[in-house]
Amino acid sequence: QSQELSQVRIDYHAALQALVEDGTRMVCTGRMHTDRICRFESLCYSTEAEEFVFFHSNYSVMLPNLGSRRFQPALLDLSSVEDHNTQYFNFVELPAAALKFMPKPVFVPDVALIVNRFNPDNLMHVFHDDLLPIFYTMQQFPDLDLESRLFFMEGWGEGLHFELYRLLSNKQPLLREQLKTLGRLLCFTKSYVGLSKLTTWYQYGFVQPQGPKANLLVSGNEIRQFAKFMMEKLNVSLEGTPQEEYIIVFSRTINRLILNEAELILALAQEFQMKTITVSLEDHPFSDIVRLISNASMLVSMHGAQLVMSLFLPRGATVVELFPYAINPEHYTPYKTLSTLPGMDLQYIAWQNTEKQNTVTYPDRPWDQGGIAHLDKTEQDRIMKSTEVPRHLCCRNPEWLFRIYQDTKINIASLIQAIRQTVKSKPGPKRQKWASGLYPGKVRDAKCQASVQGTAEAKLSVSWQIPWNLKYLKVREVKYEVWIQEQGENTYMPYILSHQNHTFSDNIKPFKNYLVWIRCIFNKNLLGPFADVLFCST
Ligand code: UDP
Repeated sequence: QSQELSQVRIDYHAALQALVEDGTRMVCTGRMHTDRICRFESLCYSTEAEEFVFFHSNYSVMLPNLGSRRFQPALLDLSSVEDHNTQYFNFVELPAAALKFMPKPVFVPDVALIVNRFNPDNLMHVFHDDLLPIFYTMQQFPDLDLESRLFFMEGWGEGLHFELYRLLSNKQPLLREQLKTLGRLLCFTKSYVGLSKLTTWYQYGFVQPQGPKANLLVSGNEIRQFAKFMMEKLNVSLEGTPQEEYIIVFSRTINRLILNEAELILALAQEFQMKTITVSLEDHPFSDIVRLISNASMLVSMHGAQLVMSLFLPRGATVVELFPYAINPEHYTPYKTLSTLPGMDLQYIAWQNTEKQNTVTYPDRPWDQGGIAHLDKTEQDRIMKSTEVPRHLCCRNPEWLFRIYQDTKINIASLIQAIRQTVKSKPGPKRQKWASGLYPGKVRDAKCQASVQGTAEAKLSVSWQIPWNLKYLKVREVKYEVWIQEQGENTYMPYILSHQNHTFSDNIKPFKNYLVWIRCIFNKNLLGPFADVLFCST
């Protein structure tokens, strides 16, 4: 019932008249199809043609107007996965006058966010590709509030985690298939098309082997605010979590199993003197798992999508990711990258099974569960003998699938040793710090004074004031970096200084012009901006 687009809220004749007279109006952000999001008025969709339609009139707007570059390769990416050729968005164009000959439009009154989900059956993809990008796309545009409606155009059914998508707005999200039941020509009164990629941290290996994205633009702060929103929507409160500190073993029950799970749980409990509990997506309601994780000291799990739920861990907690035999942890780092985002404040530990006798393989399973029976005998033999899966592209590499779907008997001593190298005392949440990781502003009022001694020697006294924001901050260590360049030279002399003035005499010559750059540094690695260059003549 909530799926119905209420027609009462809209004056149908006024809407139709606006569409016929004004046509479609589009203004986008972004310079490339990979970073573009477009806002439309009166964007239409033909459910028969399965095409979006842009109606031209004297008042229509199309910015950017790319001409045929709109097809090279597309106007924008409809999913958050960059430049994937199954996820492109475009529209076909018609004159508004053609509406006379078309089915009567059905108007969508809600503000719409039109996107593709990438892989709604895999929890990592759900969070990384869809939920976080949708959440922050909605934050970017104020009319995408809780009363707006999500439209998923990738063509899948609801998928295994639809209830999570429903948390993002008060209206039921609609799937491409359902649009047919609404009418032959749908017209979105106001809509946004495309997703922000600012929060994504991983590329899955479509063009180069998988790994962290090259330019990470998200910090733990944004991830945690999203996590908090989800917890509120899931009605998760800490009531009912154990009082004492505890460890969670997040297990898989279908494949990629831990074969000695009972032994593992006992060993962890004994080593860290903590209650240790097991959860799995199959056996526990999602909100129970979130509640338990959000208060845990340590999360131990095989590599796999369930580990994306580390984003619900409290600051200071430890993530232990287990990798099957012949899988190099350095090559598969979606959860390491998440855990180690700046400000995420999680400790991350990878452990790999290096003992062949502790792995159980499944060569006879179907190919998508890691079976290799369909391959040449020589290829099967090579894979069986190999001790490490070579780097590969997504997504059907049989050697990778064969190895990643092994079951593992964990060598407990080796695992505990690996954890102990990082977790010295008791693992567990730490107090929240604020104002760490803030950058200095520019130094102020920089001045220089020159003095010349004879024909060969000169001195340059430079002074400046502290950055404006420093007086409001507690900073452990404040240093200044000064670069001095003789005008016309390619090189400069760098100095790191503790005070707000310094007299330079090395390499300072009389009757020369010098350019002086000064910046402030907090705690060794927080580099501020350089102040405007200072000209000094000796
Ligand atoms: N899954 C699970 N238990 C299992 C196997 C899989 O909950 O025993 C879930 C997993 O968390 C993911 C989905 O099923 O959400 C697909 O799993 P797959 O092994 O294909 O992907 P991966 O976990 O390697 O990303």
